[in-house]
Amino acid sequence: MLTVKTPEEVYALLSDTFAQGPLGVEELPLEQATGRVLSAPVTAQEFVPGFDRSTVDGYAVRASDTFGCSDSLPALLTLQGEILMGEGASMPLSSGECAAVPTGGAIPQGADAAVMIEYTEDYGDGTIGILKSAAPGENLIFKGDDVRPGKTVLPAGRKLTAQDIGALAAMGISRLPVSRRPVVGILSTGDELVPISEIPEEGQIRDANSAMLSALVQEAGGTPIAFGILKDEEPLLRAGLDQALTACDMVLISGGSSVGMKDATCRVLEQQGGILFHGVAMKPGKPTILGLCKGKPVFGLPGHPAAAFFVSELFVRPLIGRLLGRTVRERSIPARLTEAVSANHGRAQYMGVFLTGEADMPQAHPIHSKSGLITSLAGSDGFFCIPRDCEGVPAGEIIRVRLYSVD
Ligand code: AMP
Ligand code: MG
Repeated sequence: MLTVKTPEEVYALLSDTFAQGPLGVEELPLEQATGRVLSAPVTAQEFVPGFDRSTVDGYAVRASDTFGCSDSLPALLTLQGEILMGEGASMPLSSGECAAVPTGGAIPQGADAAVMIEYTEDYGDGTIGILKSAAPGENLIFKGDDVRPGKTVLPAGRKLTAQDIGALAAMGISRLPVSRRPVVGILSTGDELVPISEIPEEGQIRDANSAMLSALVQEAGGTPIAFGILKDEEPLLRAGLDQALTACDMVLISGGSSVGMKDATCRVLEQQGGILFHGVAMKPGKPTILGLCKGKPVFGLPGHPAAAFFVSELFVRPLIGRLLGRTVRERSIPARLTEAVSANHGRAQYMGVFLTGEADMPQAHPIHSKSGLITSLAGSDGFFCIPRDCEGVPAGEIIRVRLYSVD
């Protein structure tokens, strides 16, 4: 019996059944943390920068000494000294004085602005002419402008990017708590399948799904373990699933998810735990199963690679995100559909697209693939959905294209 759910019902069920939070936490050195998910917020312990600095090459001044000066009436200041990079400003600056300062150099006590060298003249006798008045604070960044102790710099659940790593490095944070990567077991089932290194004989096809699903799991932040190809025999699948459940936090079984004689996934999942649903009102991807075995999610995915891909993109990727304590951000953009697409089968229809043209309103070329074909999706940019109650979309219509969430 198929207990068919809509995609929206599947999302609701996933969030009701699986807690949003990491399965475990590990501490990593900063250099290894790129792409990992923070399991706790990062709070600054220091001031960044740790001292007042100039943002220009020029002279540190007291702004009030420069008020009213101009090209024709320079303010004349005594050069008190030169501040070197990497060294503090030892002498405080008195009224009527200036100090040469490089970009990033420390500002002496008493100075409250910097004047760019372009607006100064060095008379060579220890006097500097200032040709443009400076406002207090001009061309300076102050201690703590970037960050102050106690400020939350990054929230828990953030997937760390290069700019995050830079900020953490500036704050001297060299070790970080990150979510353990969920381990996802992948089993391909089908008497017709051969490993990708083999040349298929008549009637055989290469196992594309193991590699595709492994890649998707990696992109989503999980660690895939491919258990290889299983023949369509119930005892083999039962043993394979047992092995995968022992080693993994989640299992993906591709193929055999329909209700045919040879389709064992449903029966095995029923015996080993329970079935949360069998069937999703979507195209491609209808014969999708979600089971719960030993408290772990087990997806029975359709064997058709494009169907397995869409189901995984829609449901497996966000579930891995939940198990990392991260919500996957969906990115969608408007685009103009280049040709009419029909749909009238009472299921949400997902279609891959290629984007061309202008960035502000690109053209979306739909990919009319049968669900068995995967190569037509290669190189595509995203997909769009035609809702179940909609009979199609005319050419020229503006649709929302969801970009594949590879980040
Ligand atoms: P199934 O879901 O087992 O009925 O398979 C549906 C279709 O997908 C059949 O044409 C299978 O040959 C094909 N298929 C199943 N598993 C894979 C796989 N791992 N890689 C590529 N195609 C597959
Ligand atoms: Mg099969």
